[in-house]
Amino acid sequence: MQYNLKKMEEADLNKQTVLVRVDFNVAISNKKIMNTKRIDSTIPTINYLESKNCRIILVSHLGRPRGVDMNLSLQPVRDYLSEKLNKEVYFIKNIESINETVNRMNYGDVAIMENIRFYNEETKNSEKFSKMLASSASVFVSDAFGTLHRAHSSTVGVSQYLPSYAGLLVEKEVCEISKLLDNPSHPYTVALGGAKVSDKIKLIQNLSKNTDRFVIGGAMANSFIRAMGFETGKSLVDSVGLAKQLLDSMGNKLILPVDVIVCNESMDRETIRNAKIDDIKINETAMDIGNETTAMFRDLIKESRTVIFNGPMGYVENESFENGTKAVMDAIGSVNGVRVAGGGDTLSAIEKFHMENRFSYISTGGGAFLEMLEGSELPGLKVLLK
Ligand code: ADP
Ligand code: MG
Repeated sequence: MQYNLKKMEEADLNKQTVLVRVDFNVAISNKKIMNTKRIDSTIPTINYLESKNCRIILVSHLGRPRGVDMNLSLQPVRDYLSEKLNKEVYFIKNIESINETVNRMNYGDVAIMENIRFYNEETKNSEKFSKMLASSASVFVSDAFGTLHRAHSSTVGVSQYLPSYAGLLVEKEVCEISKLLDNPSHPYTVALGGAKVSDKIKLIQNLSKNTDRFVIGGAMANSFIRAMGFETGKSLVDSVGLAKQLLDSMGNKLILPVDVIVCNESMDRETIRNAKIDDIKINETAMDIGNETTAMFRDLIKESRTVIFNGPMGYVENESFENGTKAVMDAIGSVNGVRVAGGGDTLSAIEKFHMENRFSYISTGGGAFLEMLEGSELPGLKVLLK
């Protein structure tokens, strides 16, 4: 699929009032932002609009509030942005006061609105609400890549009322993800792990048109091991039927573990062992890919020219089961070619092990990243196409 974006650099934005949808949905604990990557990734767009002397109104959601919930206020993000941009960032407490704030702003000033999901009209993509949001601005720029799979007022609705353009982050994401879909270099390997087969089935089906193989680990692999008729004990397993269908239809592209790291249910250290997949006991749980599998995956990844990584190879929250994931990421680091990662828990794992430099690109999207790879139409992206 070709994505012909309406780019903001192609518009005359001088002295416009720009409503910018960003994805500042970051984890905040005790008013401290745990990871600022999503915010930092939008700075180029903000700087660009500053250079065009725009009045900039940033809009984002944070979490899933039901009505107003000050634990999910964007105030800490405002404070962080003020520091980062080295100037005061206006805070718009509610939608009724947007115009009043805009009137006080000089050209080049930046404002951020309170969590847009404090209004339930937002997720309903209400026409009235979209109109109200749009009325404060003359242009809409969408830079919230991580939210483009949602048809909400601030991602889709406002585009009905304002000339709309993709921001620099959206441009970058689309460009990098397109490399995975159009004319990729081969061998092309997808390292797929994580929790559920059912979450990833569409992705496997769509990517299989282009890719050479999927190396499958994580809890996902358990479903395939079960589908092949082996005992999986107390392991996390889902959709064995789906796994069986995939094995039948594209078995030669699916590279599955030959061994796994297992332990008993209470995860006692002394019960951890490396087991062949035909030797998992009924009281055991598969928690990571095994040693032989890790070596096999590593070799297949290393000789690739395009690699996607989504979903940890094991239960990475426990250090006893992080080796497979780390080894796979290390192997990806030595690939001479395109090396892209995406997915919420995937990102957490990359950050936890400080392995960002193993990748040529790390998407800021979870669901949006997966849906693009699935070949689904993202409503927030559709409104940015020429
Ligand atoms: P992403 O958000 O990157 O798309 P997923 O949500 O599919 O990834 O999966 C991530 C979760 O899968 C992680 O929290 C990880 O602990 C879990 N997981 C991976 N392998 C196993 C396993 N063998 N047993 C239990 N949980 C696992
Ligand atoms: Mg997840």
